[in-house]
Amino acid sequence: MAQNAPLVLRLLASSVTAANRAGKIIRDIMTRGDLGIVDKGVNDLQTEADRSAQRCIIASLSQQYPDLTIIGEEGANSYEVPSDWIVTDYDKTVISKDCPHEYLSITKDDIVVWVDPLDGTSEYTQGLLEHVTVLVGLSIKGKPIAGVIHQPYYDYKNGNLLGRTIWGLVGMGVGGFIPQDPPAGKLIVTTTRSHSDGTVQKALEALSPDEIIRVGGAGYKVLMLIEGKAHAYVFASKGCKKWDTCAPEAVLLASGGKLTDMHGFPYSYGKDVQHPNVGGVFATVKGFDHEKLLSKIPQEVKDKLK
Ligand code: AMP
Ligand code: MG
Ligand code: MG
Repeated sequence: MAQNAPLVLRLLASSVTAANRAGKIIRDIMTRGDLGIVDKGVNDLQTEADRSAQRCIIASLSQQYPDLTIIGEEGANSYEVPSDWIVTDYDKTVISKDCPHEYLSITKDDIVVWVDPLDGTSEYTQGLLEHVTVLVGLSIKGKPIAGVIHQPYYDYKNGNLLGRTIWGLVGMGVGGFIPQDPPAGKLIVTTTRSHSDGTVQKALEALSPDEIIRVGGAGYKVLMLIEGKAHAYVFASKGCKKWDTCAPEAVLLASGGKLTDMHGFPYSYGKDVQHPNVGGVFATVKGFDHEKLLSKIPQEVKDKLK
C-alpha cells in the first residue's frame, strides 16, 4: 500500500524518518563530546556530526531511491555507514496523506534532494543547541516543493529527548506543528548571528524594524517565521547555499509565505544551479506584503548582491 503511494509523498515520508535518525546522531556525537571540528573556509565549520548526519541521510535515501539526485553540503564522502544508520521506514503521518494531484506523475528525474545535514554548525559548537536543524529539501523541476526541518534539540531543556520535525508540501500544507501568525502592527525581523557584515546591517537598518532576532541557521530562522515570532528573514549576503534554503523555503511556501533573493527573484534548485545564493535571502510570512518591504532595501545593498 504505502509502496504504491506517489513518489513525492514516499520521498517526503522517508526524508522525515532519515532526518530524525540524523538528529539522533547529532545528539549522540555532542553527548560523546568529541566534535572533530574542521575549518572549511572563513567562518565555515564542519564537525563529525555534520559528516555523519549527511552519510546517514544520503545512505538511507539512496538505498530506497537508487539513482536519485541528492546534493549534500558536505560533498561526496563514503556512504558505507553502520547498518543502524540506515532507516527505510516511512513517517506514518506523511504517508497517510493524499498527495496533491499535480505531483502524481512526477518521476525521479524531475527531483533533486538538497541536504544540509546540520544547519547552524557554529551554534552547535557554541552550545546554542536549539538553533540546530537538519534540512532535507525536495525540488521538482527546479522549484522547492517539499521540505523537512528537524530540530534535534527542540525544548531539550525541559526533557524533550526527540526534538521535533516540521514538514511541508506545497499544495498540502505544513505538518508537525500548527503555524502561528506574528503580532500585528509591528515589524520583527530575524537574521544571522554569526555571519553579519556592513551590507547585512545596512539592509536591516533600512527596514527600521521594531525588533531584530539574531539566531543561527536558515532552518531555525524560517521556523521563527512559521511560529509567528518574526515577520521577515533578511540576510543581505552571498553566504547561504541552496541546501540552506531549499527545505526551509518549501516549508515556508507550504505555509503560505514567500522567499526570494534581495532583488525579489525566486531561486531555482535544479541539479546544475550554482550553490551560493548570491542574491541574499528575503523571506516573509503568509499575508505579508513581501514586495512592499523589499522596496525599502537600498540600491546600494542590492548592488552588492549580484
Ligand atoms: P546564518 O544565518 O549565519 O546562521 O547562516 C545560515 C546558513 O548559511 C548556515 O548554514 C551558514 O553556515 C551559511 N552561511 C551564511 N553566511 C555564510 C558565510 N559567510 N560563509 C559560510 N557559510 C555561510
Ligand atoms: Mg546550513
Ligand atoms: Mg550545514
